[in-house]
Amino acid sequence: MKLLILGNGQLGQMLAQSCIQLGHEVLLVNTRSNQVVPAAAHIAFDMTIAEAMQWADIVSWEHEQLDPEHVQLAADKLLTDADKIRPLTHRQLEKAMCDELGIKTSPWNAYDSQTAFVTALEKWQQAVVIKASFGGYDGKSQWRWQPGEDVQALVAHAGQQPGIIEAMIPFQCEVSIVGARARDGRILCYPLVENVHRQGILSHTFAAFDTFPAHLQHAAEDAFRKITEHLGYVGTLAIEFFVVGEGEEAELLVNEIAPRVHNSGHWSLTGCNASQFDLHIRALTNMPFPQLTVSPTLMLNAIGCEKIADALWQHPHSQVFWYGKEPRVGRKVGHINFRDLSKDQANSLVEDWTEALQLLS
Ligand code: ATP
Ligand code: MG
Repeated sequence: MKLLILGNGQLGQMLAQSCIQLGHEVLLVNTRSNQVVPAAAHIAFDMTIAEAMQWADIVSWEHEQLDPEHVQLAADKLLTDADKIRPLTHRQLEKAMCDELGIKTSPWNAYDSQTAFVTALEKWQQAVVIKASFGGYDGKSQWRWQPGEDVQALVAHAGQQPGIIEAMIPFQCEVSIVGARARDGRILCYPLVENVHRQGILSHTFAAFDTFPAHLQHAAEDAFRKITEHLGYVGTLAIEFFVVGEGEEAELLVNEIAPRVHNSGHWSLTGCNASQFDLHIRALTNMPFPQLTVSPTLMLNAIGCEKIADALWQHPHSQVFWYGKEPRVGRKVGHINFRDLSKDQANSLVEDWTEALQLLS
């Protein structure tokens, strides 16, 4: 089949690779320059986006911030209704959707003006995280506050746009479920993975080292099914959770939902017989899903660094992914997957290399 991917960043590139592997044709759209481009070359085709949409059988995206003009042009070639995805680009609507579906999130309230912000914040008796409704990623457009701290000082930042105030969660750890829903409704999820963030940016993922209690995997898959069925979603989707409580008492609170392939699924390029990018393409094209075989894998992000040390390229368990992007502080420029290590070895790699690989501020 012929696929057109909106976006040619690293996610678009990795989706394109899966298209090639699975026997499909693929073109990308550079959504900044509004040009039709090939995978892995900085050139543009002499082709309009409307022509590329006509050429394609299926249109999909690397990121959910869609240009309304592209949505209109793609018409029925987008297999998920773009209107239905809108709540996931707006924190108030995303939270409201979870409430409506009976899926637990951190306690929250919304504000739409400076006055409402101040009134809402002053009611909180505990530490909170304030998040702008639109446009936040990698911890941007977020603020922390606790009782006793100055409210007015925050108004100039957080109070300038609509947003949410939510309880600061003392989580045991953060996890995510990544999975895919096919055109015919089949669903396949990976095991829950553990994600560690630094300054609000994903630093590394531990996949398939520890098995999470079955009831948590079950709850995560249940949330995945409810959300994807509610949205009529086709493709790969990720849900980030906080784990609160311990043992049998442990439960999941949804933090965020990403209707796309996600950084916390990058381990699957190395640690599984089908990556999250393969699952996305298989879901769109209604190909069979495989029976998943997973190996313990560490995914370590490279953020803002100029290069990856030779020792990591040469490491016997590593697979390096370099995105070919201009390094900038806080910008994801690559990642390294390490497969078949012990948890101790994985922890040592994190300890030894995180500082050198991640320039956060
Ligand atoms: P992404 O890049 O994943 O889209 P983001 O910038 O949109 O991230 P969140 O995922 O909401 O933002 O927050 C980033 C990180 O900040 C979380 O992974 C978590 O570590 C921390 N965080 C966010 N909200 C809370 C909360 N309510 N309680 C505790 N920690 C939080
Ligand atoms: Mg997040």
